[in-house]
Amino acid sequence: MLKKILYILWVSVFLILLFFGIKNGGMMNFLDIMENRTFDIRQSILINSHSRKHNPDIVIAAIDDASYEYILDNYGEWPLRRDVYAKVVDYIESQSPKTIAFDLMFVRSMKSDTASDNALINMFKKYDNVYTAMNLDNQPEDLRKPPILTLPSVMPYPDTDKTVEYSNCRIILQGILDATSNVGMINVSRSNDGVLRRMPLYLKYQDKYYAQLGYLIANKLSGSLKNVRPDNEASVTLNWYGPAETFENIPLYKLIKAAEGKEKLDYDFSNKIVYFGATAASLFDIKTVPVDKVYPGVEVQATYVNNLLDGSLIHKVPVWVDVFAGILLALLTVLCVLKITSMPVALGSSITIYTLYIMFTYYAMQFRYLWFGIISPIIFAFFAFVITVIIKYLIKSRDFDQQYKLATTDGLTELYNHRYFQEQLQVQVNHSARYGMPVSLIIIDIDFFKKFNDMFGHQSGDAVLRQVAFTLKKNVRLTDIVCRYGGEEMSIILPNTKYDEAVNIAKKLCTIVSSKSFKLTNSRESNVTISLGVASFGEDGETPAKIIESADKRLYNAKENGRNRVN
Ligand code: GH3
Ligand code: MG
Ligand code: MG
Repeated sequence: MLKKILYILWVSVFLILLFFGIKNGGMMNFLDIMENRTFDIRQSILINSHSRKHNPDIVIAAIDDASYEYILDNYGEWPLRRDVYAKVVDYIESQSPKTIAFDLMFVRSMKSDTASDNALINMFKKYDNVYTAMNLDNQPEDLRKPPILTLPSVMPYPDTDKTVEYSNCRIILQGILDATSNVGMINVSRSNDGVLRRMPLYLKYQDKYYAQLGYLIANKLSGSLKNVRPDNEASVTLNWYGPAETFENIPLYKLIKAAEGKEKLDYDFSNKIVYFGATAASLFDIKTVPVDKVYPGVEVQATYVNNLLDGSLIHKVPVWVDVFAGILLALLTVLCVLKITSMPVALGSSITIYTLYIMFTYYAMQFRYLWFGIISPIIFAFFAFVITVIIKYLIKSRDFDQQYKLATTDGLTELYNHRYFQEQLQVQVNHSARYGMPVSLIIIDIDFFKKFNDMFGHQSGDAVLRQVAFTLKKNVRLTDIVCRYGGEEMSIILPNTKYDEAVNIAKKLCTIVSSKSFKLTNSRESNVTISLGVASFGEDGETPAKIIESADKRLYNAKENGRNRVN
């Protein structure tokens, strides 16, 4: 009983915590973080299985540590002079690349170096396949007046109602804005845990939508992008190809040397998508992504463009699919618990089902680019497991209680049966032998009961037997054990009761029964009397058999001496 209450309490507390957890969002947040972790693990295993190949035509012109030092040594300053970038672009363009993109911002004019700025601006005028970046932010207006953008805006997707909106932006060189419309934003979306898993397709600024750099480039290259389904923040989830340096990296200093004719570079840029960006940790464009803690922003851009071009962005399945998966897993779990008798086997089977589901989600991500939830469905199913186990246990224990009652009580009188009597007498005798406590036994037999039956019928005999049993039970202590010994004979084990006390109790019972009228069938009434024999542990022997024998003898004497008495 106590156990049952504890279980019910435990389940209630669990449910209440779950309810408040979900209501306050704390639990949802926690589940989200856990789910994101499962995504990272799936992605990490996928990139290690080498099943996914990135586009080899995307290369990174990397401003790595060596290039950074080269620039400081040869030009005496950082950032690199803009005419050098122009020269490098000229060099690459001579080999007909598909696209050149700068994951770099050319912010304002540098140290009034107009000649150098103009070289860059002219480069943008000359080539319509060169792209550059800018960044939206939320700096207050008193620091910077939000500029009016003259760039073409994009059409938003329907249902992207929570598009991220920015109030300000980094001003890039006006000459570039005048020279080209190939300018994309390079803002990213980070999850609560700081990991970069998604990228916006476009962002809202001054009531217009401006494309992300990668989206701009992919759109231009492919014309019609397939399998792009942004979430309600107009973001998409990236599908990773590998850790940092998965894409081919060509150090910028080698390109500079080649552009300036100092050293030949043995690399063919024809038909390549060339991304300029910082990979040196000291240049701070480093992100944490699902497959790597230190991952250059420019490779995020490369991954993004690659995903858009080969239609491999990850799509989260709708919430109802996860709910359905949870219900299905829960049903299978319940089936396991109910059908399998052994609890460890049921647990093992349930875990096997969950494992198969996790494998399914892995392959769904590998081959269909789908993100099926793992955490919520499995927590739900495991919850079903716990509840089912508890319910099964409760039903079992109730069954057991019922069976125990059936096995120990007499159906007619509802007293303990003969078997229980024998068991208990042995227990009490052992107890007395060990602790020196007294124990007594009263055996009771209804007087002239054969005649009674003959006179009033067996139905009335049964009714009286039941009432006598009830009377005996009502008039002894709760700790006394009242049993039906057999036929119309009953017995009472009186723990912790000496012989004299037992005789007094017997006398009391004898008087009570004799003075009571018992109801018969057909609403008649009649009296019966009983004869009682008393025996005790010690005086009458130290085994149940001896004690019963003595009580029996005394009962016989009581009968001989005229019945309705104690002996
Ligand atoms: P006494 O004990 O006073 O010597 O006479 P008695 O007639 O009671 O004799 P005894 O104890 O030997 O007889 C038992 C009778 O009790 C026999 C049977 O008819 C009756 N009896 C035993 N069990 C039941 C029962 O479950 N229901 C009914 N109605 N009668 C029972
Ligand atoms: Mg008898
Ligand atoms: Mg009798």
